Amino acid sequence: CGIIAYAGENNPLKILVNGLERLEYRGYDSAGVSVLKDNQIYTVKAAGKVSSLAEKIDSDDQLSDTSLLNCGIAHTRWATHGGPTENNAHPHLGQNSRIALVHNGIIENYQDLKNELLEQGHTFKSETDTEILAHLIEAHYTDDLKKAVSEALAKVEGAYGIAVISKDEPDTIITARFGSPIVIGLCKDEVIIASDINAIVHHTDRVVYLNDGDLAIVNKDGISFHDLSLKSVQRNEEKITHSA
Ligand code: GLU
Repeated sequence: CGIIAYAGENNPLKILVNGLERLEYRGYDSAGVSVLKDNQIYTVKAAGKVSSLAEKIDSDDQLSDTSLLNCGIAHTRWATHGGPTENNAHPHLGQNSRIALVHNGIIENYQDLKNELLEQGHTFKSETDTEILAHLIEAHYTDDLKKAVSEALAKVEGAYGIAVISKDEPDTIITARFGSPIVIGLCKDEVIIASDINAIVHHTDRVVYLNDGDLAIVNKDGISFHDLSLKSVQRNEEKITHSA
């Protein structure tokens, strides 16, 4: 339902939780966040309100030293596959927790993909279509996250806006869309990705909208735009007029 992701030098948790609050008006049933800490993915999820998630984050000792935190991804979920539980909340991780993913939309062929992954020995923690995509990306991942995302998306039928991080490429976020919006906000030394301009407008008025079939590689120093087979494409920055 709602995606927000952050790459930059500031505390990612503050920006992510604030972004989730700005997406609340769209409706949701659960929320979650993953950040990178000491080259590990650290995830907090909660059924119900973003304020419940925020309380969990605030009382988590592991997250108290925010200077150790790198980029992160966050999500408000509107369940399509699997009930509105904490386990089904995003982000979802791959089999060995190397990557984390947030997803808007529906993976239509998730059951076929799930059967293949089960045969390969994968085990799943949720009933979502999204977790299948997280496992599929990680199954394709050796040392190049953008390549893994590109190869996994080539097998997917359905609609998606996604943001993906890896513990082995801690400054980078890969985002892509097909049938579900993604907009990228450009700030000085920071990048904010969201499914909705409302989560970005108070940070910057410089944005780039992804087109269907676009994949962007994002880090604090810049962004490159590609098609789903990783061929470079040109996307232009736009100036938005503040309304929120
Ligand atoms: N289909 C996914 C799920 O049920 C994503 C739902 C959404 O767009 O929030 O978890």
